[in-house]
Amino acid sequence: MRALIIGGGIAGPVAAMALRRAGVEATVYEAHPSGADGVGVFLTLGSNGIDALRAIGADAPALASGFPTPGIAMVSTTGKPLGRVSTTGPDEAGTVSRTLRRADLYRAVRDEAVAQGVRIEPGKRLVTAEDTGDGVTATFADGTRAHGDLLVGCDGVHSTVRGLIDPGAPAPAYTGLIGLGGYTRGVPVDVAPGDYSMVFGKRGFFGYALAPGGEVWWFANVPRRDEPARGEVEAIGAEEWRARLARLFEGDGGPAVRLVEQAHEIMPASPMHAMVKLPAWHDGRMIVIGDAAHAPSPSSGQGASLAIEDGVELARALRDHGDVARAFAAYDALRRPRVARIVKQAARVNNNKAAGPVGRVLRDLLLPVVLRMTADGRQTRETYGHHIDWDAAVA
Ligand SMILES: Cc1cc2nc3c(=O)[nH]c(=O)nc-3n(C[C@H](O)[C@H](O)[C@H](O)COP(=O)(O)OP(=O)(O)OC[C@H]3O[C@@H](n4cnc5c(N)ncnc54)[C@H](O)[C@@H]3O)c2cc1C
Repeated sequence: MRALIIGGGIAGPVAAMALRRAGVEATVYEAHPSGADGVGVFLTLGSNGIDALRAIGADAPALASGFPTPGIAMVSTTGKPLGRVSTTGPDEAGTVSRTLRRADLYRAVRDEAVAQGVRIEPGKRLVTAEDTGDGVTATFADGTRAHGDLLVGCDGVHSTVRGLIDPGAPAPAYTGLIGLGGYTRGVPVDVAPGDYSMVFGKRGFFGYALAPGGEVWWFANVPRRDEPARGEVEAIGAEEWRARLARLFEGDGGPAVRLVEQAHEIMPASPMHAMVKLPAWHDGRMIVIGDAAHAPSPSSGQGASLAIEDGVELARALRDHGDVARAFAAYDALRRPRVARIVKQAARVNNNKAAGPVGRVLRDLLLPVVLRMTADGRQTRETYGHHIDWDAAVA
C-alpha cells in the first residue's frame, strides 16, 4: 500500500513514520520550498504527544529542544492565584510536557522522519486530488502528479484536502483572539522554572514561562471581535505591538508590561482559528487528520499533541484493517470522542479569555472552584495521560 501525505508540518511526518512502521509506504508532499520552519513562536508538547512519539520511536529529537513544563498556574486580573493545572502525565514514567520553539518541533519530526527513511518532497502544493475508486491521484501547483492507494490530508487548519473530501465542509472559525509572543531577558519573574503562569488580564490574556538560563518566553492573546483581513495583523511590526501590548496590560497583575517593554524579540502576530466540528473526516480513499480535521485553537495547548496522536492511530488502524474504508471508519470511531472533548474544553477557555467586565468577575469567582475540581481531575488526566500501545489491536 502507498500513501500520499499532504503537508509536512507535524501530523504529516509523524503519520509517514507510523505508516512505514505499519508496512505502508508513505511520501510527504509539503507546499513550502523549505518545510515550514519559522512559523509561530513556541508551543507546549503535552506528555500525551511525547507518549505518541515514543510509540513510534521518534521522541528523542523533540525532547532535545526546549524545557520541561510540569504545570500551569492561573492568575486573576489583580494577580490573585486562581489555581494550578498539572501537565505531567500520570504514567509510570511521569512524562512531563515540554515547551519548545515551534520551528524546533517541526525540524525534529521532519529530520527524524527522513532518518527513518521517509521521503519528503518540498515545494509541492496540492491543488486537487481525484479518487479513482482503486486509488488517488494528486495534482500539485507545479503541474506534477502522484498516485497512491490513499491520501492523508495533514495540511493544517486552512486545509485544501478537507474541501476535496466535502465541498460543503465548514470553514475554520475565527476565535476572536489575535495571538503573538516573544522572548525577554533580565526581567525577574515569580514562577517555578518551566511552569507557565497565565494571567486573565482586564483587556487581554498573557502567559509566560521561565526557561533555563533566565530567559522568559511569553505570549499574548488579544481580543478582537471582527476577523482581521488576511495578512492585516501579520503586517503590524514588533515596535507597534510593543506599544499596543504595554497599553493593553497596563494595570493588570503580573510582569506583562515589563516583559513586553524589555523583549529582545517579538514575533509576528496571527489571528487564531479553530476547526470545531467537521462532520466528515474521510470519504473514499481520502482522510484529514491533525488541524485539518480538528484544530482545537491554541488555547488547548493540545493541537500538536493531537496531530501526533492522529498520525500514530491512523497507522495502527491501517495496519489492523487492510481495507482503507474499514480502517478509516475504525480510526474515526477511535478518535472522535477524545478530540471532541478537548476541542470543546479549548472553546470554553477562549470565551474566558475574551470575557467582558461582567464575565470577568464571574470567571475570577468561578475559576478557582473549577480548577480545583479539574486540576488533577479526570479530564486533565485523560488529556495528558493518554497512552498509545503500538502493539495493541485496533477494534
Ligand atoms: C500561535 C499558536 C500557538 C500554538 N500553541 C500550541 C501549543 O502550545 N501546544 C500545541 O499542541 N499546539 C499549539 N498550537 C497548534 C499547533 O501548532 C497545531 O495544532 C499543529 O501545528 C497542527 O499540526 P498539523 O501538522 O496538523 O498542521 P500544521 O503544523 O499547520 O502543518 C500543515 C502543513 O501543511 C502544509 N500545507 C498546507 N497546505 C498545503 C497544500 N495544499 N499542499 C501541501 N502542503 C500544504 C503547510 O505548509 C504546513 O507545513 C499553536 C498554534 C498557534 C497558531
